[in-house]
Amino acid sequence: MTSDIAIAQSAKMLRISQVAQRYDIEEEYLEPYGHYKAKISLDFLDTLKDKPDGKLIMVTAINPTPAGEGKTTTTIGLGDALNRIGKKAIICLREPSMGPVFGMKGGAAGGGYSQVIPMEDINLHFTGDISAVALANNLLSALIDNHIHHGNELGIDARRVIWKRVVDMNDRSLRNITVGLGGPANGFPRADGFNIAVASEVMAIFCLATSLQDLKERLGKIVVAYTRDLKPVLASDLKAHGAMAALLKDAIKPNMVQTLENNLALIHGGPFANIATGSNSVIATKSALKLADYVVTESGFGADLGAEKFVDIVCRKSGLRPDCAVIVVTIRALKYHGGVNLPDLGKENLAALEKGIAHLERHVNNIRNHYGLPCVICINHFTLDTDAEIQLLKEKMASRGAPIVVSKHWSEGGKGAEELAQTVVNVIETTPSNFKFVYDEKESLWNKMATLATKLYGARDIVADSKVKAQIRKLEEDGYGNYPICVAKTQYSFATDPALRGAPSGHSVNIREVQLAAGAEFIVMLCGDVMTMPGLPKVPSSNMIDIDADGRIVGLF
Ligand code: ADP
Ligand code: MG
Repeated sequence: MTSDIAIAQSAKMLRISQVAQRYDIEEEYLEPYGHYKAKISLDFLDTLKDKPDGKLIMVTAINPTPAGEGKTTTTIGLGDALNRIGKKAIICLREPSMGPVFGMKGGAAGGGYSQVIPMEDINLHFTGDISAVALANNLLSALIDNHIHHGNELGIDARRVIWKRVVDMNDRSLRNITVGLGGPANGFPRADGFNIAVASEVMAIFCLATSLQDLKERLGKIVVAYTRDLKPVLASDLKAHGAMAALLKDAIKPNMVQTLENNLALIHGGPFANIATGSNSVIATKSALKLADYVVTESGFGADLGAEKFVDIVCRKSGLRPDCAVIVVTIRALKYHGGVNLPDLGKENLAALEKGIAHLERHVNNIRNHYGLPCVICINHFTLDTDAEIQLLKEKMASRGAPIVVSKHWSEGGKGAEELAQTVVNVIETTPSNFKFVYDEKESLWNKMATLATKLYGARDIVADSKVKAQIRKLEEDGYGNYPICVAKTQYSFATDPALRGAPSGHSVNIREVQLAAGAEFIVMLCGDVMTMPGLPKVPSSNMIDIDADGRIVGLF
């Protein structure tokens, strides 16, 4: 079997200016980073204001097995297939963080014959956007400690600084640190810690901002600390937001690359899917909608998390409205939800598959009834899927109001996804979207969370201890009660316990902690353990990565 990187390196890349030409982007508006990557100037995007938008397709998935079920790969394959059947299509993806690249999951540029290239660049540094986000974040950190050092006019309580430093690396040793050691010249010692850069609120803001000015204003609203009498201290109080936005002036321009089949891909912004929205920047998606008739974008995790946040946070704030959802499902993941364990997923098991289908049904129901979106089910074909399994799944889902197609983009590229593309086009042309939010913004924070848990997750109720309830009340008193909720819970289950597979119901959702993201304008509700600074495994993927004498990178996947 050919590795992803070998497939990517043998592809015939076009110069990015040639790819851009096909989408009527003139060369003067490209800001090239070498020959195969470029940023699009925001001036150009301004000139497109009055053009009609294309159709927006949101790719989501069932709750995955720990291996990932192929949303990115399907997004790319569907984009290529739409172009193959004569539609002008662009795909929009998140930028990969280097944490997973060197850790466990590997790259995030698709796989097999559905990839974006140059994959080495995309996975390693790319155009430096994530570094810029990290710098903007760390400038704010430096300004906080500097302010305290020089007299602390704002009265920041050093024990109540909630803003952390970040680096784009999995490094567990940095989770909890002490800064300011070494005497008076080095500031006041205090407990601090690092998150991975993509978990920064700066990244969340970056992806929701609709312009450079909007970005700056939102950065100013970040709450970095509290005073002794619990008044919030904002980034704007430290006069940090102007300089932070200045550091992001190039990063905010969408990045252009191409797929293996030379179609345009915008890869821009990469927020976590638990404590943030998990989808690429609004600016990239809005740009793509002006440049193409069909835009395919991926939302992170399963449809209970990523798609819900796309609907309730991203769409609510940006005005984006999907025309259709594609839910990626694999036979092996449904068997997993039917009770089969990882090592046995390669064996035919019709009974487990049939049991696992309840899981898919709930997602399809949520997408159609609670998000109001027409839905196409894409079976992402794996080599070990049997005909009997595929037949069974198709039969069981035949009358659920969502067409179901097998797609072989991973092994065949866009050609293998033509039926999927045609089905999506037909659905968009014949089924109007009835898009809606799951909850009303004006509801209380508690009720919004309860609505998500009972409507989408099948839960009986939500619970929280008195400390968390008091935090929620304080947020409402401080004027943040009208913000949408960003749920951070396991991606492996509808419930908060990753071991509860299938379609659990009657469970309780425990809100462990709440966090304010004032600049991103949402309230994070943590339900379960969420890692914002991952560690490396015993044998990290970086062991495999190497560069040869000709400068060729190997071992990335
Ligand atoms: P997600 O975006 O849902 O996390 P990805 O598209 O990144 O998933 O895919 C996860 C991994 O699975 C990648 O390594 C990818 O190459 C692999 N993969 C995806 N689809 C297939 C398939 N049909 N057959 C084999 N491997 C696949
Ligand atoms: Mg992905």
